Amino acid sequence: MILVSSCLLGVRCRYDGSSRPVPALWDVLGQGKSVVPVCPEQLGGLPTPRPPVFILGGDGFDVLAARAKVVRKIDRQDVTDFFLSGAEECLKLVRLLGIRRAVLKSKSPSCGLSRPSGVTAAALILEGVDVMEF
Ligand code: SF4
Repeated sequence: MILVSSCLLGVRCRYDGSSRPVPALWDVLGQGKSVVPVCPEQLGGLPTPRPPVFILGGDGFDVLAARAKVVRKIDRQDVTDFFLSGAEECLKLVRLLGIRRAVLKSKSPSCGLSRPSGVTAAALILEGVDVMEF
């Protein structure tokens, strides 16, 4: 069973209402694997579309440790709680279903794994989930 960012599967859950389908993803996931699609930002209670955001003062690990926050680009409004809530909901599913692998969308303040890591990606890594980004 693999946790996957919903937007990579063609779900239009991105901040601007678009998706980022990756047909080659199916080769990576493998035939017959069970896929659990999640959008941490929607699970955290944010609407779609929604204003773009960025992590101020660090990365997803720093947000989890309360050393950084997630703010809206347009007005710097603090939306950290939504991102923490989304990460917590994903962890709930991971623990409930025994998920040990995740494929997440790159360059996202929630799902990104590098440049910098997102909040949910960081939470999954700390949980011991094997995370890769696309
Ligand atoms: S990158 Fe993650 S949080 Fe952003 S739209 Fe895709 S699934 Fe949702």
